[in-house]
Amino acid sequence: MIALARKYRPKQFADLIVQDHVAAALRGAVASGRVAHGYLFAGPRGVGKTTAARILAMALNCERRTPAGEPDGECDSCRRIWNGAANLDVVELDAASNRGVDDARDLRERAMYAASGETRSKVYIVDEAHMLTREAWNALLKILEEPPPRVVFVFATTEPQKIAQTAAPILSRLQRFDFRRIGPHAIVARLREVLDAEHLAAEDDALHLIAASADGGMRDGLSMPDQVLSFGEGPVTAARVREVLGLIPDDLYSEMLRLIAERDAAAVFPLVDRLVEAGADLGEFVSGAGATLRALLLVGVGGQPEGVTEGVQRVLRQHGARLPPPDIVRLLTVLGESEERIRRSGNTRLAVEVLLLRWAMADRTVAIGEVLEALKGGGQTAGRPVGRDSDPPVLRDTRPAEPHSPAARPPVRPSGPVDKGPLTLDHLRAVWPQIVADARTKTPLLGSLLAEAQVAAVEGTAVTLRPGNAGHAEGLERQRELIAQLIGRFVTEPPRVTVAAGERPLRLTAERANAERLNALRAKDAGLNAAVDALDLELLE
Ligand SMILES: [Zn+2]
Repeated sequence: MIALARKYRPKQFADLIVQDHVAAALRGAVASGRVAHGYLFAGPRGVGKTTAARILAMALNCERRTPAGEPDGECDSCRRIWNGAANLDVVELDAASNRGVDDARDLRERAMYAASGETRSKVYIVDEAHMLTREAWNALLKILEEPPPRVVFVFATTEPQKIAQTAAPILSRLQRFDFRRIGPHAIVARLREVLDAEHLAAEDDALHLIAASADGGMRDGLSMPDQVLSFGEGPVTAARVREVLGLIPDDLYSEMLRLIAERDAAAVFPLVDRLVEAGADLGEFVSGAGATLRALLLVGVGGQPEGVTEGVQRVLRQHGARLPPPDIVRLLTVLGESEERIRRSGNTRLAVEVLLLRWAMADRTVAIGEVLEALKGGGQTAGRPVGRDSDPPVLRDTRPAEPHSPAARPPVRPSGPVDKGPLTLDHLRAVWPQIVADARTKTPLLGSLLAEAQVAAVEGTAVTLRPGNAGHAEGLERQRELIAQLIGRFVTEPPRVTVAAGERPLRLTAERANAERLNALRAKDAGLNAAVDALDLELLE
């Protein structure tokens, strides 16, 4: 099992895609010995914030650093940091799970020990920093006011404005870098490079689909081919990407544009039926519809939409002429008015149907020439609904029956009311098929991941899942909360979900794993708990 996201994680500043401004500044700071004590890395998820922090740690501690400030990425120290192997020089903390003042105090005490050697620097990487409490920030502020030598803090966050609200004074102590979203072209180019290096075949359209789903994040972009490949052999085709990621076939967007262009309101209901039957996420359909209209608008005003598949380009060519830009602007306005309602609605299906009906019935721009023409002709008003005589494309299922694709799915509907049972291994295994079915109604990918996963253990409220294979671990890990909700419907106590590590450690550094084990041991043994606090013990093995 290859793990592209991990294998191709950058090892040098120069490898950081799109974040040249950050790379140049950090490299320069390392080269000139002017590294700050505190950094704030702000930007969307998956664009390289923690990776940049690790490279900074590598550069500071590299045995063969270049004069320009680049780590070599190969020496013992670099390897250890890059692998996330247990080492004293990089401490990664996830603020989403370590929020309290206790952790800040712990951090403060540990920071006092500074680096592991005379020439080493110690880097604390605090991920999801906006989740830290005010008390934790206050403790950190004290450290940053008198920082120990050769200790660097990097706070990574997707929501810098929240830090400004809870801990404004800290911001003046931090040097801030804003990481950019990674455009679809850059993602496609990088994916192509990586897949070529791995001698893996992939269709262009498949890469465009992945880039669009990755939404500006390279980590997601690289983990998606992993997920697709983890479900079977063979080239990465657009069809497989759609299947695994649960994407909505282009044909459904084509049908949507047709019914809008032809004001065919009656076709709204069968279209939504198709979506529901395909297990599509209606919210995703709405955002895809918005993206399609936007691309159509771009084409209409002479632009070139970025990163759209051949299929979508075909759809745009087919319907572009019938929906001029002023009409699309009107449709997008209607979308803007409806989005919030759809998000909040208890009946998403109805809300989406209403949106499509409003689109199908929206007023249209009519060229003045057409009106005059129509008046001359006597009676026939321009702009009336166009009949269905224009040979509408026939809707069909684009998902091919591939030998390796997950087995044909039964129609997906959330299971009805259930009798909750005790949170035990036996009960969970018994209701697992229902949980998988529920998951499929949320996202087909999660359904597939859960179908292959196993409930490995239930201890107290902790449910441990074993992924079907190592490549599934990250996907499960990321959706732990949703999985807990899905399980919660069937049990009397709200569960916590953990994912058993596959053969690769993913983002779980050995240090963090040890900390988790230590916490588990502390919870079991009050004596040990007290000793750990008193002596600042760390679990070594
Ligand atoms: Zn090195």
